[in-house]
Amino acid sequence: MDHFAIRDGVLHAEDVPLTAIADAVGTPVYVYSRATLERHARVFRDALSDLQNVHIAFAIKSNPNLAVLRVLAREGFGGDIVSTGEMKRALAAGMKARDIVFSGVGKTRGELREAIDAGIGQFNIELEEEGVAIAQFAAKMGKTATAVLRVNPDVDAGTHAKISTGLKDNKFGVPIGRAPEIFARLAALDGLAMRGVALHIGSQIFDLAPIERAYAKVGALAMELRAAGFEIDRVDLGGGLGVPYERDKAPPTPAVYGEMVARVTKDWDVTLMFEPGRVIAGNAGVLLTRVIWVKPGVHRPYVIVDAAMNDLARPAMYDAWHDFEAVEPVGKRMVANIAGPVCESGDTFAMNREIDAVKAGDLAVFRTAGAYGATMASTYNSRALVPEVMVDGAAFAVVAERVMPEALIAAEHVPDFLKD
Ligand SMILES: *Cc1c(COP(=O)(O)O)cnc(C)c1O
Repeated sequence: MDHFAIRDGVLHAEDVPLTAIADAVGTPVYVYSRATLERHARVFRDALSDLQNVHIAFAIKSNPNLAVLRVLAREGFGGDIVSTGEMKRALAAGMKARDIVFSGVGKTRGELREAIDAGIGQFNIELEEEGVAIAQFAAKMGKTATAVLRVNPDVDAGTHAKISTGLKDNKFGVPIGRAPEIFARLAALDGLAMRGVALHIGSQIFDLAPIERAYAKVGALAMELRAAGFEIDRVDLGGGLGVPYERDKAPPTPAVYGEMVARVTKDWDVTLMFEPGRVIAGNAGVLLTRVIWVKPGVHRPYVIVDAAMNDLARPAMYDAWHDFEAVEPVGKRMVANIAGPVCESGDTFAMNREIDAVKAGDLAVFRTAGAYGATMASTYNSRALVPEVMVDGAAFAVVAERVMPEALIAAEHVPDFLKD
């Protein structure tokens, strides 16, 4: 459930008509609803309330906006980071270093040192050499880094190939069969406290069966390690729960997911860690855009909007679906293609789609754009970097400015050898 709804004929975010945001900030612009973020955080937490020890780390890569992180920090969430840039954001938003988990297959040595120095709560180690490096750096600093070993359970999450991460040929984690020997070697190192295992098999998952299989495999590994004498006090179950990009296709609810987790993990006796991203932020944001032209096409008209693939990359990158709705619908429908201004045929949000009838000048939104939206934005075609707004009841604030071409140009330099 979200807080974007039509009231008096106008789509509102909470109590703010989106027309008011377009007037004040211009378009395109991402609009987030604080109440929706909070609701999703609570629904997720409540779904896990039967479990004993739970730590939730929001996957910051899904939406790293400081205001968004601040809302989630206030809900007690930590952060799952994949770079020290994200670590800085998490800390700046008020998350505690000890509540931060550092994932990712290519943490640089510099990043590892920075994160050890900051005292982050957990490193999710993706390969043996990385664990050795963490141990050496920590020992040199007189510290002990807490870590878990990320394993690749070789389970097909049944999602898009670009967001599948748990197949044996994917770049993430160590092969589950080799995990015991690698874990044992790392556990023997000074500077490193190996405390458990982690997995994350993919994103936008609709079918719980593969996650359940992967969890069972990782649980068996954790029990095997404990039986071998290692102190195992946590298992990190990753993120990946899907969201309904299309109104009539519903993923499993957090409650159903929580029941599955409770069933699979009931004898583990560990702290369970979760790294949800999309399920928290996805439906808490829309991308507000204005129709520039409705251009006649061969089969269907093209609705050309002022948002483009540089603002919302998911359709171009993953063939993703985002519902498109008029901000002031007139009750009529049309079938159209929807595209942005960027000079790429891939800058197309939808083909042959039945949508609210719109004309030039109308406002519309792409729904479910709160996750993997603004964070993937670029300035391709020398377009401004898209801004972000957060709504709170009847109030709203710009939480990321539109970075204009002038500012981007100011960061570039023509070298002396070209000045004559
Ligand atoms: C991307 C990612 C997540 C979050 O995935 P969602 O599908 O957004 O829930 C969690 N953990 C890791 C390690 C990730 O890479």
